Amino acid sequence: MQTTQDEIQQLEDAFKESARDFLSAVSPLSRIRALRNTDPGYERAIWHKMAQAGWTGLLIPESLGGLEQGLRAAAAIAVEVGRSPLPEPYIASAIHPAAVLTALPATRLRDELLSRIAAGELIAGVAWQEASDVALTSNAEATVVIDGDHARICAVKRWVYPANADGWLVTCRHSDMDAICWVPAASHGVIAESHERVDGSLAVTLHLNQAAIPASHLLAQGDEVQPLLEQAKAQTRAVQAAELLGIATEVFGRTLEYLKTRIQFGKPIGANQALQHRMVDAYLQVELAQAVLKEFLAVPAMNPADFAAGCARVKARCAHAALHVTRLSIQFHGAIGYTDELDIGLYFKRALHLNSWLGGVLENRRLALQSRETALEPANSPADSAIAAPADGNWNAMSEPAFRATVRQFIKANYPEALRNPPQRLHWKDLKDWYLSLSSQGWIAPAWPREHGGMGLEPDKLIAFFEEMEAYGVARMPDQGIINIGPVLIKYGTEKQRRQYLPKIIAGEHIWCQGYSEPNAGSDLASLRTEAVLDGDEFVVNGQKIWTTLAQDATHIFMLVRTDKEVKKQAGISFLLADMKTPGITVRPIRNLGGEEEFCEVFFDNVRVPKENLVGALNQGWTIAKALLDFERIFVGSPNQSRYALNQLRLIAQQKGLFNDQAFLDRYAASMLDVDDLQALYAGYADIVKRGEALPPSVSLLKIWATETYSRIAMEVVEAAQEQGGDAAPILVGDSQITPCARLYNSAITTIYGGSNEIQRNILAKLVLGLPV
Ligand SMILES: Cc1cc2nc3c(=O)[nH]c(=O)nc-3n(C[C@H](O)[C@H](O)[C@H](O)COP(=O)(O)OP(=O)(O)OC[C@H]3O[C@@H](n4cnc5c(N)ncnc54)[C@H](O)[C@@H]3O)c2cc1C
Repeated sequence: MQTTQDEIQQLEDAFKESARDFLSAVSPLSRIRALRNTDPGYERAIWHKMAQAGWTGLLIPESLGGLEQGLRAAAAIAVEVGRSPLPEPYIASAIHPAAVLTALPATRLRDELLSRIAAGELIAGVAWQEASDVALTSNAEATVVIDGDHARICAVKRWVYPANADGWLVTCRHSDMDAICWVPAASHGVIAESHERVDGSLAVTLHLNQAAIPASHLLAQGDEVQPLLEQAKAQTRAVQAAELLGIATEVFGRTLEYLKTRIQFGKPIGANQALQHRMVDAYLQVELAQAVLKEFLAVPAMNPADFAAGCARVKARCAHAALHVTRLSIQFHGAIGYTDELDIGLYFKRALHLNSWLGGVLENRRLALQSRETALEPANSPADSAIAAPADGNWNAMSEPAFRATVRQFIKANYPEALRNPPQRLHWKDLKDWYLSLSSQGWIAPAWPREHGGMGLEPDKLIAFFEEMEAYGVARMPDQGIINIGPVLIKYGTEKQRRQYLPKIIAGEHIWCQGYSEPNAGSDLASLRTEAVLDGDEFVVNGQKIWTTLAQDATHIFMLVRTDKEVKKQAGISFLLADMKTPGITVRPIRNLGGEEEFCEVFFDNVRVPKENLVGALNQGWTIAKALLDFERIFVGSPNQSRYALNQLRLIAQQKGLFNDQAFLDRYAASMLDVDDLQALYAGYADIVKRGEALPPSVSLLKIWATETYSRIAMEVVEAAQEQGGDAAPILVGDSQITPCARLYNSAITTIYGGSNEIQRNILAKLVLGLPV
C-alpha cells in the first residue's frame, strides 16, 4: 500500500518530536563543552541509547534490524540535532556508512555490518578522501592487493570521521578498478592519527601501511563503485543540510530574543532599523533554507544526477544560512558574542565544521552546476501537447496539465513573438490587439466571477494561468482595470457602478490608471493631500498625483483622496473614480531612466466628480486600498523575471566565452541557485493561495528575494556584456537582441514599487518578527 504525503509528514513530525525529547535529555550544551577536544569526543553509552531510539538504523532495511525510514526521517532528526548539538557522530556513523553499505551488493559481511550499525554495536566511518578538494575522486592513491585469502591495503586517508571508530569503509583501487574495503580499526598496520576540528570534535588521518585484512573484506569493485560513493556523499550532504538548518533556526531564535531584551540608549537594541533589516535578511535565509530542503525532500524519486545536484543545492543554501545567521548573531551580541561562554560560539563552530566537511557553500554550488544536466538549457521551452482552446470551458474541472496546455496553446497562437519579454512597460497601442483577443476569448479577467464576464478561476488555476503567461514572456498589460478596480467594484461598488464600468473594462473600452502616490506621499501613502470636497452632488478635487503608470493611455483613474483632515490620517481617505476627460485634469508624462514615458504626473484643478463615483463609504478608502495589496504580492514574487534574466546572462556569457572563467562560473552557479531557491519559496506561498487561504505577512520575504535576485542577475548581465554592457544599442546574441542596461533599469523598478523593499523589511520586522518599534 502506498504511503501518502500526509502520512509521511505525520511520521516525520513524530520523529522530530521524539528527537526533541531525546535530545533535551541527553544533549545539553554542557556535554558538548565537556567533551570537546577530548578523545574520542563522544560517549558509547549515549550511542547505544541513540540506537535504541532507532537513529542508527534509519537508512537500514528492516530485515537487517533497521527502521528503513529514509532521508526525510534522517533529515527531520538532523534538524533537531542542529538545534541541540550532539557530540555523538550521528551523520558520520549512522548516515554516511549506512548510505554506502545499503547501496552495495548484498554479501554476508555487508549485511553483518549493517545489522551491527543498526543495533548500535558498531561505530563505522567512511574513509574516502585524500586531498581537501571534495571534487577529487575518492581513491586517488590507495591500493589493495589480494593474495589468496588475505589482502593488504596501502592508503593515507584524511578527514576521516569519527575518531575511535571500530572500522572504516576505505575506498581504493584493485586491479585497475575502483573498490571499497572494510578495514577494522584493530587490523595490523592501521594508524589513526587524530586532529582537532574547529568545533572540538576530532578528525582522523588514517595511515594504512600494508594493513592486513581478509580478502573477503573487499566489499565491491568495478564501475558501479564511484557512482554509489557519490550518491552516498550526496545523501550525507542532504542530512548535513538539515543539521545546518537546525543550527540556523536555533541561533536565529536566540538572537531575536536578545534583540528584544538587550537595552541600549534606553530601548531594546532590536528597535533600531539597521538591526531590524539585517535580522529580516537573516530570517529570509532561514526561510529559504527551509523551503529548499522541504521541496527537495518532498520529491519521491529522482535520477542520480538530479539527486546529486539537489543535495549539493540544499547543502549550499543551508550552510550559507547557518554561517550567515551565526556570524550575524555574534555581531548582534556585541563583545559577549565573542566569548567562549556564550553558546552562540558553539553553534558557529559547529556550522563551520559541517560546512567544510563534504564541501562548503562554494564547492556545493559548483557541484550543483556541474551535475545538473538542465543547467544550461534555455529557460523558455514549454513543451506542450496542443489542445484547441474553447472560448468557454469548464476550466476549474480540467486537470492542471490540460488547463496549462490549453492556455499555452492560446498564447502561442495569439501573442506576438516580437513582444515577448520586453525590457520596458508597453503601451496600450502595443498591446491593444492582444487585450482584445483575450477579451473575445473570455479570458481577459481570469480572477473575476463568471457573472461579471470573468473566467471564475479557482486559485490553483489562477496561479497556473499567470504562470503560463509569465513563462512565455507575455508583457504586462494596462491591467489596472482588471487586477485592481474591477475586483474593488465587485466587492465594494454599487450595482450601478458595476453595470457602468465592468463590461467596459472587459471590452477594452475603459483603460484605468491608479492614482495613489503623491509627491509627498510615497511609502507614507496615508499622508496624501489631494483633496475632495463635497459640493452638492459633486466632489471638487484639487491636488496632484505622481508616478501614475500609463496615465497618458488611460480613460479613467481610480484614486485615493483626502475627505477629512481632522481625523487620524488613514481614517480621512476616500476611494474615488474619475473620467480622465473631466475638465481640470492634466496629465504630464515623465521620462524614466530608460528614456520611456512610462509614468506621469496627474494634476487636478477644481475637477468636479459626481458623488456617485465614490466607492464604498466616505472615508473608507484606506481599507479598500489595503485589501488589494495581498493578492498582488504573490505575483511580484514570481521567479520568471529572474529566470529570464538568467537565461540572458547564459546567452551572453556563452558568446563571450565566460563559462571557461572559474570566477564567472562561481557567480553564475550562485545566481542559478538563487533562482531555483526563489522557486521553492514561491511554491510555498503559491500553495497557500491555491488552498484559498489568506497570505501571511511573511509573503513580503518573497517580494524581497524575487526582486533582489532579479536585480543582482540584471547587474551580472551588464558585467558579462563587458564593453557592450555600456552600449545603448542591443547586442545580437544568436537570434535574441539583448540590451543589458534596459534589463537593469527594469529590475530597478521592482524593488521600489508595490511597497519598496525597505518598507517590506519594516513590515517583516514588526509583524512577523515582533521586533519593538
Ligand atoms: C515604475 C513605477 C511605477 C509606479 N506606478 C504607480 C502607479 O501607477 N500609481 C501610483 O499611485 N504609484 C505608482 N508608483 C509609485 C510607488 O508606489 C512609489 O514609488 C513607492 O510607494 C515609493 O514611494 P516614493 O517613490 O515616494 O519613495 P519614498 O517613499 O520617498 O522612499 C524613498 C526611499 O526611502 C525609503 N524609505 C521610505 N520610508 C522608509 C522607512 N520608513 N523606512 C525605511 N526606508 C524608507 C524607501 O524604501 C526608498 O528607498 C510607481 C513607482 C514606480 C517606480
